[in-house]
Amino acid sequence: MKVRCCIVGGGPAGMMLGYLLGRAGIDVGVLEKHADFFRDFRGDTVHPSTMQVMDELGLIDGFLKLPHQQLQKMEGMFGGTSLRIADLSRLNVKYPFIAFMPQWDFLNFLRESGKRFASLKVMMSAEAIDLIHDGDRIAGVKVKTPDGIVDIEADLTIACDGRHSLVRERAGLAVEDLGAPMDVLWFRAGKRENENESLFARVDPGKMMVTFDRGGYWQCAYVIAKGQYDAVMAPTLKSGLADVKSWDDVKLLTVAINRLPRWTRPGLLCIGDAAHAMSPIGGVGVNLAVQDAVATANLLASKLVNGCPPEGELDAVRKRREFPVRMTQRMQVVVQNNIITTALKPGNQPLKAPAVMRLVNAIPWLQGITAGFVGVGVRPEHVQSPVASDRF
Ligand SMILES: Cc1cc2nc3c(=O)[nH]c(=O)nc-3n(C[C@H](O)[C@H](O)[C@H](O)COP(=O)(O)OP(=O)(O)OC[C@H]3O[C@@H](n4cnc5c(N)ncnc54)[C@H](O)[C@@H]3O)c2cc1C
Repeated sequence: MKVRCCIVGGGPAGMMLGYLLGRAGIDVGVLEKHADFFRDFRGDTVHPSTMQVMDELGLIDGFLKLPHQQLQKMEGMFGGTSLRIADLSRLNVKYPFIAFMPQWDFLNFLRESGKRFASLKVMMSAEAIDLIHDGDRIAGVKVKTPDGIVDIEADLTIACDGRHSLVRERAGLAVEDLGAPMDVLWFRAGKRENENESLFARVDPGKMMVTFDRGGYWQCAYVIAKGQYDAVMAPTLKSGLADVKSWDDVKLLTVAINRLPRWTRPGLLCIGDAAHAMSPIGGVGVNLAVQDAVATANLLASKLVNGCPPEGELDAVRKRREFPVRMTQRMQVVVQNNIITTALKPGNQPLKAPAVMRLVNAIPWLQGITAGFVGVGVRPEHVQSPVASDRF
């Protein structure tokens, strides 16, 4: 099989990029190793920046018809004190809220919407297991499918296979690790009628819980110190764990913050978490992945009509996106060093919210600044890639 562009990974980065390249008439294949998108452990927060992109693609009405909840004011309980840390209603944007939507709905929606593009193929149960080389150039991927191993040759391979990217590892791209002090236990909690608490985060000494309202239930993220899974589980639950029928009920999600100094090789580009793994702080990772996809299509779609651009031109994507990534990761590291590390230390003394959080809570216009950083981000992208009929 031969395609102009092979995208490895059908997460937010891969599905959005597949949609944009299909829309531009590029012969593109998206490979997703799972049979469907129905997994509970993906980020669920769709921010104003992503909704703006959906609006520019004419997809927003259908998107907002999918079941979702909207959040404008982000509030947390920090050591017994309730604080507002962001207010999206202060933003001058078309969609001033965060939409909480199970990610499988978002990805399915992109997949269904992309079916109108004849040049886009999404292959499920297709796992890239190695790269194909042609001299120095990456020339495609070896793929495990239910029918056996298939070679997919591609002028350009784009790694969108997330924070444990096999493609970047096989391409020998070095990862710069910024460290993350926590992991997350991810599970659902029942929601009673009329239980519509707007609290987003609860932080007490040694404990931190973030909850997402998913309509019929709470999606809970219980933050634990990195590597403490056994310690957290053992004393209280270990014997009971034998009765746990399915690990679908509780998932350990490992958190990482890292990035690649180099995002390319000849014939290869990495974007999304494959280029820069994001922590859950701020719920920005999905949205950054979408922004990367938009920038990639803006910079490369027209060039791909004639084949794979040289590595220097592929690197334009890193040049465009590295600054927003660095700024966002810096914010995440500041939050984890100043808030999360302190919060995860066990102790009996009530926690005192950091001065900066108290300041933001006290001065409402500052809540618009934090909302802008989270909801719109640094250097937001707008869709400028061609639609197929514009190309000729
Ligand atoms: C605990 C936790 C909670 C988070 N919560 C949020 C949140 O609420 N909001 C938010 O915006 N961000 C959140 N994030 C960050 C967010 O999940 C990521 O930044 C985002 O998913 C990155 O998108 P992506 O498309 O680059 O990669 P991914 O979403 O990781 O998608 C990669 C895809 O590639 C597929 N794949 C992997 N390997 C292969 C292969 N070899 N062949 C074929 N397919 C492959 C995977 O199955 C997957 O579908 C969270 C992160 C963590 C760790």
